[in-house]
Amino acid sequence: MSLAQRLLWARRGSAYFARKLNELPDAEFDTPTALPGWTRRHLVAHVGYNARAIARLVDWAETGVENPMYSSPQARAAEIEEGATLSVSALRALAEHAAAHLDVSWRDLPEDRWNAEVRTAQGRLVPATETPWLRAREVWIHAVDLGNGGSFVDFPPDFVDALLADIISLWHRKGQGPALLLRPDDRDAEYRVDIDGEKPRVVRGSSVDLARWVSGRGVGDLKADGGELPELGRWL
Ligand code: ZN
Repeated sequence: MSLAQRLLWARRGSAYFARKLNELPDAEFDTPTALPGWTRRHLVAHVGYNARAIARLVDWAETGVENPMYSSPQARAAEIEEGATLSVSALRALAEHAAAHLDVSWRDLPEDRWNAEVRTAQGRLVPATETPWLRAREVWIHAVDLGNGGSFVDFPPDFVDALLADIISLWHRKGQGPALLLRPDDRDAEYRVDIDGEKPRVVRGSSVDLARWVSGRGVGDLKADGGELPELGRWL
């Protein structure tokens, strides 16, 4: 996928998240989300701080001076806990300003710096061209996590395909089971996680339901050959 495509997904996803956030009444920020231990306050703070963290990677690519997303997983968690105590208007402003700032960082990154390598929060070295993808995943999926009507069915179809490919290839690379063969019934494609000595479990359904399932956001209408859906490991 091209850089232009990734930037488009990130920008459309950011607009989608902003729309869902605008539709969320102030009084509903304290409600828990499906993410363990997180209310919507935590989630909104996280999405804002994530934009800042990715902007640090863009800055790193531009200057060549290491500027990690977070100084440590503990620091990331502490920042989110503290952010969750902000007022609702401050949380809204954080999400909006951080997203706008990130957009400007991408716009201003010189063309010859896009291939500079930076490190993701998972420790992977990637070129800066990967940063819009990292952000796109966050904003689209967390818009669903907000829990006020966001849905995978609203995702751009080519983004759904890229998400499926991304998660499955990550598990495949890491050798993280179970062995899987995903067969979307609305695409001419298949996705496999091969594990030595393990017969892959075949799972069928729409691309949207498969993407929802592998990203840990519910089962939808999927069918596994031989009965029950296999238990999945973590993605991120
Ligand atoms: Zn996240």
